[in-house]
Amino acid sequence: MMKIGKILFSALLLASLVAAGPARAGVPGSLSHRVERGETMWSISQRYGVSVDELSRANGISDPTRVQAGRVLIIPHDSFTYFERHFPVSSRVNTRSWQYIVIHHSATEIGSLHRFDYHHRRVRRMPQGMAYHFVIGNGRGSADGAIEAGSRWTLQQQGGHLKSVERNEVSLGICLVGNFNERSPTPKQMEALVALTRYLQAKFSIPRNRVIGHRDSRGERTECPGRNFSLADFRRRLL
Ligand SMILES: [Zn+2]
Repeated sequence: MMKIGKILFSALLLASLVAAGPARAGVPGSLSHRVERGETMWSISQRYGVSVDELSRANGISDPTRVQAGRVLIIPHDSFTYFERHFPVSSRVNTRSWQYIVIHHSATEIGSLHRFDYHHRRVRRMPQGMAYHFVIGNGRGSADGAIEAGSRWTLQQQGGHLKSVERNEVSLGICLVGNFNERSPTPKQMEALVALTRYLQAKFSIPRNRVIGHRDSRGERTECPGRNFSLADFRRRLL
């Protein structure tokens, strides 16, 4: 059985606007961080993609240059909370130690989780279903900027999106619908991709140099995610 998380990205923007005010300790889904020796408010803010100001305000800190090791900080990360709520991992499994995030294009004009899942099961004979963990729609087959999570995310299963089995074990796969040799990703797709990737980076402590295109993964011979997908521009928007 497959559990599918599906949202429109506009709902994500709305949620971040509505969720005003500092997060409070004990609120389900809120994120906390115990300060390690040597960490600063700056380094912690970078890790979670929030500003030092937001972090200070949420924790009632007047002087952000002084923060004591051992203190537990509340991370006011609305989109983090949002993703946790909308794309939950099954309570029956543990999360994997993912090390890479690999971006793909579908090389088709139309697509959705449903279409790819059908194709991968029936045509490519993958019993675990859709090879990617997430799909981001382009308005043809699924809504523009809509994020869908497949069962490989929910059940924390290895991907089927790379040639190497070892790489699939540690690489999350995100597929953007579209042929980016012919056209560019839509602005809404890129916004959704940035938000999703930042969430995954924060959750699994993945640095931006481990966010790569399919073509950049070792041993691959492909143009995926297409000539019009700029990894450099995308990485500038990451944590
Ligand atoms: Zn690919």
